Amino acid sequence: MTNTDATHVVKDMPMSYDKVKTLMDEETYKWHHDTHYAGYVNKRNEIEKELKTVDKSKANANYSVLRSLKLEETWNANGQILHEVYWATMGGDGKYDQNLNIIKRITEDFGSVDAFKAELLAVGKAGRGWATLVFDMFSDGKLRCALYDFHNQGGIAGSLPLMAIDIFEHAYYHKYGPDRAGYLSALLDNIDWKKVEEKYNKYSKYTQ
Ligand code: FE
Repeated sequence: MTNTDATHVVKDMPMSYDKVKTLMDEETYKWHHDTHYAGYVNKRNEIEKELKTVDKSKANANYSVLRSLKLEETWNANGQILHEVYWATMGGDGKYDQNLNIIKRITEDFGSVDAFKAELLAVGKAGRGWATLVFDMFSDGKLRCALYDFHNQGGIAGSLPLMAIDIFEHAYYHKYGPDRAGYLSALLDNIDWKKVEEKYNKYSKYTQ
């Protein structure tokens, strides 16, 4: 870890490169973490620091420093959070036990695991930023695939991300070129379902 004095900390990659080599080349493993992800964390810290002293009396929806800071706060905060979710469930072999709670719940909400995968792949092709599996705890407690066009545009308010697929080109282009579908498919084959299960079991108790 780095920048330990700051509020938000750049966390180490939770898996070695060897575990994700079907998804990305070694340069992307390093660039994506050290430049993109770390950039969001560091800018989030910088913005939070500036927010402490910004002149709130000049707040204005056409232009104001406060407006810019608050907009970029969501870009960088979501950039941090979604990347951490993205990497957290990688490094597996895509296989799962039918008795996992998350698998039972996916089957209930999507019809089957294959139907869920087809929807997530389609959302991954339709979006420009992120394709996610979320637990929509505020609406009805169901699982949904949520699309983000940017880190801070899209999603479902208050939903908890269980799985996130980065579909910005920096995530796959260096290895897959324009074959986004190939990358998405490789990613689903690399999911560690036990980690998705851990997240689901932790969050599902918050259902309204
Ligand atoms: Fe990214």
